[in-house]
Amino acid sequence: MAKKASIYAGVALVLIAALFAGGYRLMNRRSETVCGFCQRHINPRSRVVAEVGGRTRTVCCAHCAVTEARQEHKPLRLIEVTDYSNGGKLNPEQAWYVDGSRVVACEHDMTKMDVTKHAEQLSFDRCSPGTFAFRDQKSAEAFVAQNGGIVKRLPELLAEASRND
Ligand SMILES: [Zn+2]
Repeated sequence: MAKKASIYAGVALVLIAALFAGGYRLMNRRSETVCGFCQRHINPRSRVVAEVGGRTRTVCCAHCAVTEARQEHKPLRLIEVTDYSNGGKLNPEQAWYVDGSRVVACEHDMTKMDVTKHAEQLSFDRCSPGTFAFRDQKSAEAFVAQNGGIVKRLPELLAEASRND
C-alpha cells in the first residue's frame, strides 16, 4: 500500500513540475510579444529592444521607448531595431528612422491596464506617431513619400528622449 501511495505522490510531483514549466514558458512568451512599457501587443515589424535607466526591455516601437526615457528622465540606449519593410533585425546605429508618419503600428484602443487590471484612459498616446526603422536612406524616404513623416538618424532620436518639456 505504502509503495502505491509513493507512486501517486511521484506522479503528482511530475505533474506539478510540468505545470510550472508550462506557466514559465508562457510568461516568457508574453514578455516577447507584449511591450515592456505600455503592455501593448508588439508589431513584429516595429519591435525594438531598448535599455532605459539600465533595464532592458522589448518594446512596441522606438517612439514608446523615447517617451519612457523622457518621462522617467532616464538615459536611453537602443540595442536592436527592426526593419519595418521586411522584419529583419538592424543595428540601431546603422538604421534610418521615420518619425511622425500617418502609420499606426500598435494595436491600440487608447486604454491601458493599470496594476489593478482596470482599464485607464490614456490622456495621450505614448506610441503615436510611431517611429519606424529602415536599413537604408532610400527605403526610409520611400516610406515618407507614401506615409509622410521625417527621416532621422539615431542621434536625433536619442536627443528627443532627453528633451525637457
Ligand atoms: Zn509600447
